Amino acid sequence: MMQAMLFEAPGNPLRAAELPVPTPGPNQILIKVAACGVCRTDLHIFDGELDRPKLPLVLGHEIVGHVAALGPGVEAFVLGTRVGVPWLGSTDGTCFYCRQGQENLCDNPRFTGYQIDGGYAELTVADQRYCFLLDDYYSDLDAAPLLCAGLVGYRAFKMTGDGNRLGIYGFGAAAHIVAQVAVNQGREVYAFTREGDTAAQDFARQLGAVWAGASSEPPPKLLDAALIFAPVGALIPAALQATSKGATVVCAGIHMTDIPGFSYDLLWGERVLRSVANLTRADGLEFLSLAPKVPVTTHSIAYPLAQANEALDDLRAGRFSGAAVLIPSLG
Ligand SMILES: [Zn+2]
Ligand SMILES: [Zn+2]
Repeated sequence: MMQAMLFEAPGNPLRAAELPVPTPGPNQILIKVAACGVCRTDLHIFDGELDRPKLPLVLGHEIVGHVAALGPGVEAFVLGTRVGVPWLGSTDGTCFYCRQGQENLCDNPRFTGYQIDGGYAELTVADQRYCFLLDDYYSDLDAAPLLCAGLVGYRAFKMTGDGNRLGIYGFGAAAHIVAQVAVNQGREVYAFTREGDTAAQDFARQLGAVWAGASSEPPPKLLDAALIFAPVGALIPAALQATSKGATVVCAGIHMTDIPGFSYDLLWGERVLRSVANLTRADGLEFLSLAPKVPVTTHSIAYPLAQANEALDDLRAGRFSGAAVLIPSLG
C-alpha cells in the first residue's frame, strides 16, 4: 500500500488515503516519487473549472522520482533512473495534430494528474515515452517546478517572438522561471503582479526584472510582447493596452475568467492575441537541456505530502514566491 492525497469531488479537501501500489502496464514505469510540484492547474481541477478529471484522482503533474519497476516493453529506462513526468501523459499519435508535430493539440490526449493518477502520492506509474531524464544539476526539490511551470512557461515564452521588452502578468512559478531565461537572452522583463503584492514585485526585481508593479499600472515603456500567466481575463485588455504595434500577447494558462469586452483599437495595429496549450515532448527536451545552461534557478518551497491542501491554499492566496513542491519523504 502507499500514501496518497486523493481528490474525490470539486471543492472538497484532498483526503489522505492508503491506496494499492499501482502495477506498471505495457510501456509504463513505476516511479517512487521524490518531489511533485503544485501547479495552478491543480487548483483549477480542485475548483471544478477543469471538469473532466477521472474520479477519484491523484493530482500532480510535475513529478520527480526514481524508477522502481518496469512494465513490459520498457527499454528507455533502467531501475533507479531519475525521471521527470510532465502534464502530457499520452497522445494517440495518429490524429491530424499528432501527425503535424503538434501533439500538444492531440484530439485524444490524456494528462497526468487529470485523466491519469499523478504525483501527490508515494508512488505512481507513467508511460516511459512521455517521461524525461533530468540533469544532475538540479535537486529533486528544485527540478519539480521545471516540469510544468518550466516546460509550458517556456513554450509560451517562445510564442512571444523576439521583441526586447517582455511583460509578464502574474509572477508565480512559471514567471519566475521564464523571467530568468528572458533576462539571460538580454531582454527587459516587466513584471505585473496583484495590487500591493510588493513581495512578488521584489522577487521579480531580484530575478532581473527592470520594472515591477501592479497589473493596473501602465509600464514605463510600451511592451513588445506580453505573457499572461494569471488566470484573470481582465488582464487581456490590460496587456494589449500596454503593448506597442505588432506586439504579441500570449495567454499561457489552461483556464481564465471571462474576458471583458474591449475596444478593437486595443487589438488594431497588428497586435496578436493567442493562447498556448499544453506541451510537446520536443518542448520538454529543449527546455530541460537549456535550463541548467542559463542556469535557471528555481525557488521551491517544500511541503510534506500530507500538507497538500495547505500548499494549494497558499498558492491560491499568493502566500509564497516561487513554487510549492510536495515531498513524500517529509510525511
Ligand atoms: Zn493525436
Ligand atoms: Zn501545470
